[in-house]
Amino acid sequence: MLADSEFAFELSVCQWAERAWSPASDTAVLVARQFGTKHRRWDTIVLECDPSGLRERAKFGAEVFDSDILHVLQNAPADWTYYRDALPDPGYPWRYVRESIHEAADRQAIETRKQGNRIEIRRIRPYPDWLRRIVAIENKPDLTASAARNLVPQLQRDIALSLADEVWVATAATEERVEPILLADLPAAAGVLTVDPETGTAEAVWQPRSLSVDEPGTRILDRPDDDTSAARFEYADTDWKRERRLAIAERAYARGWRAYADTMRPDCRHFQLNADETGVYPHCVAKDCLPTAAECRGQCPSYEPEPPAWRSKAWPLDGGPGKAIQRVLDRRRRRQRPGLAE
Ligand code: SF4
Repeated sequence: MLADSEFAFELSVCQWAERAWSPASDTAVLVARQFGTKHRRWDTIVLECDPSGLRERAKFGAEVFDSDILHVLQNAPADWTYYRDALPDPGYPWRYVRESIHEAADRQAIETRKQGNRIEIRRIRPYPDWLRRIVAIENKPDLTASAARNLVPQLQRDIALSLADEVWVATAATEERVEPILLADLPAAAGVLTVDPETGTAEAVWQPRSLSVDEPGTRILDRPDDDTSAARFEYADTDWKRERRLAIAERAYARGWRAYADTMRPDCRHFQLNADETGVYPHCVAKDCLPTAAECRGQCPSYEPEPPAWRSKAWPLDGGPGKAIQRVLDRRRRRQRPGLAE
């Protein structure tokens, strides 16, 4: 696959990571893109998961649980208990907890009953410990010296906060090796990966350091360029980090990296999925390229809706090719999450 845009490169990194990321042999891998916190979005994240934990997670369904519901699920007791006795004080009003309890019950993730005017809760199954590690990858296909320098503040923030276990920069493989000077510019704790989208292979040219996710982190709010002004920091405690990591993992579990089709126009008659040995990619027949998510939208001057006949019985696939493409991507996404019902 020819990666001629950052978006195309990002997809090739996701495909490669899903196929070839090789942690310990008893580890399952989930890949997602464009994820993070309010303050920081990573291009690609790789979740290393406990395989049996991942199967247990699937029993709760494919949809995401937010932090408030996770607070309920993780503390729901095995026997009927008044919810305020069962759950630790959330640090926010209990009425919000009650909303999360009802939502969790509606999704059949816990059971509830009324005893007098008290709500009691009981778990249906324990919420599993399925996430082992989070690997964050920053994609910079064209890693020039100035691009490397621009990345440094972001990487320093990631390393200081240590929300991810590892931080990598992925760049496109060229005939030349990565200049040592570029490696010298980047923080030593960040790994560097060269990815060849045409062959779907990658090589680690610098190994990252494992970050201290179980220790408090530091959020760098402001790091002035001059040496005289003080940088501003904020403390991130371990509870906050643990909660954020799981919230990120939950969203990544629900969305994966193939959700790009949700914001593109697979219902355009020119939209196709092309496959080669490196993976499956969107392809625009009108422009003969891999369209970016930014250009493949209703306002695209070449956009043409599928002819209605394609969506009717004249077309062998239910709902026409646009819907069929969505289903192919959904199926592939589900395949990465073992244990989910079809
Ligand atoms: S013509 Fe425009 S909207 Fe249609 S597939 Fe190509 S980029 Fe997407």
